[in-house]
Amino acid sequence: MNEPIEADGRQVHRIEKLSVHIVEIPATAVHSHGTGDVSRIRSVILKLETDLGCTGWGEASPWPVFTGTAEANAAALHIHLRPHIIGQDPRRITRIMGIADKVVVGCLEAKAALETALFDIVGKLSGLSVSDLLGGKCRERIPLSFSVANPNFDEDLRDIERLHGDGIRIFKIKTGFASHAFDLKRLEQLRDIYGDGIGLRIDYNQGLPAFDAIRRLRDLEAFEPDFIEQPVKRHEWSALADITRRIDTPIMADESVFSVRDAVAAAKIRLADIFALKIMKSGGMRQAMDIASVAGTAGIEVYGGCMFETGLAHVAGAHLLASVPELRLGCEFYMANYYLTEDILTKPFPVEDGQVRVPDGPGLGVDVDIEVLSRYRGELLE
Ligand code: MG
Repeated sequence: MNEPIEADGRQVHRIEKLSVHIVEIPATAVHSHGTGDVSRIRSVILKLETDLGCTGWGEASPWPVFTGTAEANAAALHIHLRPHIIGQDPRRITRIMGIADKVVVGCLEAKAALETALFDIVGKLSGLSVSDLLGGKCRERIPLSFSVANPNFDEDLRDIERLHGDGIRIFKIKTGFASHAFDLKRLEQLRDIYGDGIGLRIDYNQGLPAFDAIRRLRDLEAFEPDFIEQPVKRHEWSALADITRRIDTPIMADESVFSVRDAVAAAKIRLADIFALKIMKSGGMRQAMDIASVAGTAGIEVYGGCMFETGLAHVAGAHLLASVPELRLGCEFYMANYYLTEDILTKPFPVEDGQVRVPDGPGLGVDVDIEVLSRYRGELLE
């Protein structure tokens, strides 16, 4: 496996350098959730360089109340994974990710960053896009959803009007952080203004008390949401399965399903009708594809979720979603264009007429703006 020259005479690239950038970028507004408020993102940007001059980028975007912290993921890459990555042939993605799983438990966002950077390099070396490497695009465009989570709903209404003008027709209302009446009022107002010209979704981020969930969820059904996401706490599986059985609106599991193992167990009891795919939960695109396979086999829908992230992680997610066989509910990669004060990509994350356009590659098909990256960087570990 370690010969320096391939049979066709090409030299084999080896990972020579690993840099970990911790960035903090302010958001344009506060977004509230069942698990608390967010007003800035704190992400870990990984840069891998080979001895023959090829560069790959990846992002770990942790949310402390959901997956983990930037500090833990930066340390996982900088201290614990570095010795196992330097010197590796970047094409051995499955092998390298297997080693990563053995040497660090958890830190799935760091593993997503590592896998993304490896795919970026292999794509650049082969001239193929990351979605090509995952099996090829099943779609060029993915409908984009914006999350309505501003505690000041008047500000949200202005944003929604602007986004509607940009062609966005899907809005996800974050509920369960204030009163039930506030949730109902916002849904009613949006249906009054836009009628059935927009798709509405609801996400509690675990914010609903399980003992009184059914009655409150029934109130929401009058507004015909496409789905209701993660009403109860992550580990309240019995309550979530019960809600899925008793509520007509499709129920989505997000915080409750991270891994392929979770997906298998959840499919067995039909924990939910939909799983939210996120590379930061699964530890990368390949594992998310496996979750999509489990879901598809069990008649469960998948959805393109994301964390608080820059356009770099959005692009990895877009390549993943392009390659998933069935995808009817779109994605929520709105942060880069509609939430951050500035993104780190050299060109805007591609959104046209309310749809994400999947980049063509090679690799991820985007570049990081080094000047912007250094401007928002708090720490550089290399
Ligand atoms: Mg969610």
